[in-house]
Amino acid sequence: MADVYLIGAGPGDPGLLTVKGKHILETADIVVYDYLANDEFLSYAKPGAEIIYVGKKGGDHTLPQDKINELLVQRAKEGKSIARLKGGDPYVFGRGGEEAEELMEAGLTFEVVPGVTAGVAAPAYAGIPVTHRAHTTSVCFITGHEDPTKEKSGHNWAVYAQSESTLVFYMGVKNLPMIAENLISNGRDPKTPVALVRWGTRCTQESMVSDLENVAEEAARRGFKAPSIIVVGSVCSLHESLNWFEKRPMLGKGVVVTRAREQASGFAETLREQGACVHQFPTIKINPMEDCSEIRQALTEIDSYDWVIFTSVNGVRRFFAEVDAAGADSRIFGGRKIAAIGPATAEALVRRGLRPDFVPAKYVAEHVVSGLIERGVGEGCRILIPRAKVAREVLPEELRKAGAEVRILPVYETGLNEQGPEALEARLEAGEIDFVTFTSSSTVDNFFKLLPPETLKKYMPQVRLACIGPITAKTLESYGFSAGIQPEDYTIPGLAEALINA
Ligand code: SAH
Repeated sequence: MADVYLIGAGPGDPGLLTVKGKHILETADIVVYDYLANDEFLSYAKPGAEIIYVGKKGGDHTLPQDKINELLVQRAKEGKSIARLKGGDPYVFGRGGEEAEELMEAGLTFEVVPGVTAGVAAPAYAGIPVTHRAHTTSVCFITGHEDPTKEKSGHNWAVYAQSESTLVFYMGVKNLPMIAENLISNGRDPKTPVALVRWGTRCTQESMVSDLENVAEEAARRGFKAPSIIVVGSVCSLHESLNWFEKRPMLGKGVVVTRAREQASGFAETLREQGACVHQFPTIKINPMEDCSEIRQALTEIDSYDWVIFTSVNGVRRFFAEVDAAGADSRIFGGRKIAAIGPATAEALVRRGLRPDFVPAKYVAEHVVSGLIERGVGEGCRILIPRAKVAREVLPEELRKAGAEVRILPVYETGLNEQGPEALEARLEAGEIDFVTFTSSSTVDNFFKLLPPETLKKYMPQVRLACIGPITAKTLESYGFSAGIQPEDYTIPGLAEALINA
């Protein structure tokens, strides 16, 4: 074990953190991170880990480098293991070398976990391979912003200009006119293609391709800002044909996900794969029952039921948490028949080694009942429904009408996830939100408890509202809004598809 790990966090796409980097993040006592490192990684930190932001954004240094070094040394000396997360690769214009030297001097041990550097990844996501046999035999990583305290520049513009090398500039946007001018005056062809990639690998990625003689003016005209990578060289001509990432249908579209955080990952992931910028605003909190004695008692007499019907993934999770706590396993179901109200719930059961006997084709209570009746549910049939404490009563009522004896077993409670709407409002105000999604009536009710309907009204109709099904849409209407987007199939994948089509 080292005292400090200098970890490359990659250029922004959360999938570009290394497996080793993630593992260390999960075990560290303290996580120290930068402006460019993706915030999402902080969720990997173990519960109780201390999280320290030392970000840098252009000139506004939250903590100057010597203070960062001091902090690392001091905290490591307390015996805490530190994950120092840095954007891209720690040793590529990341001052990781300086941090390592300080640690060495203080007698501390360190290890480096290299990261995916922006100079390779941002061009790759913009369809530009930094080397290509038909175009170049070398690539050069160059700072576009030299240490201002240096007496003599370390740049040899003649060498940069006269080779065919691909030149990759970091921190160069402000100095773009100077960079282009130096290359041209030292003999590089003014027609050499140049690409700028801003926020590379993120959902907000933008890129442009020009040539040396026009790029400075064009970038200024388009308001192209930092953080951007500048690529000079004929490989930039491949942008047009190899540009895979920017073709994603939802690239840059802001989508608010209001489901509980525990449930949001699948939906968020699908949207991200399509390029969307997902903003989690979990309106619901899932709490275990305060008193679990009723669940424990139900487990002991589960043999007396004919069917067990699960209505949500949370129901499955919380039910099995109690099965685990009782030291039991899936065998408690014995010969009981099992139903799942939708495919995600069914999958959660399959993961437990249980294949449901019935999954309805349409995912609303009314359809579940007819399917169950077809499968022999009727007079005298005993049914157990583990679910949320408060939920729609249609399913149990309809089953009772069919003659069944139904017992509802509350295995969790949902509550309002109390949080301020400030961050969401700021995004709405900045025009970063294109869609707000609702996946149940309670997400709608809770959303408007957190953000008043009048506030959302200000951003209509630019912001479009999407609902998973007709019941949720009706709840939304009761607040004076209409769901412009609704899937035919009332599932999360259905909702994701409807958003992509919209
Ligand atoms: N250690 C980092 C670089 C830090 S210097 C790495 O290896 O990637 C900061 C500069 O990196 C920025 O000014 C910008 O030029 C570049 N940069 C970092 N992330 C970027 C991104 N996602 N897209 C474009 N440029 C990025």
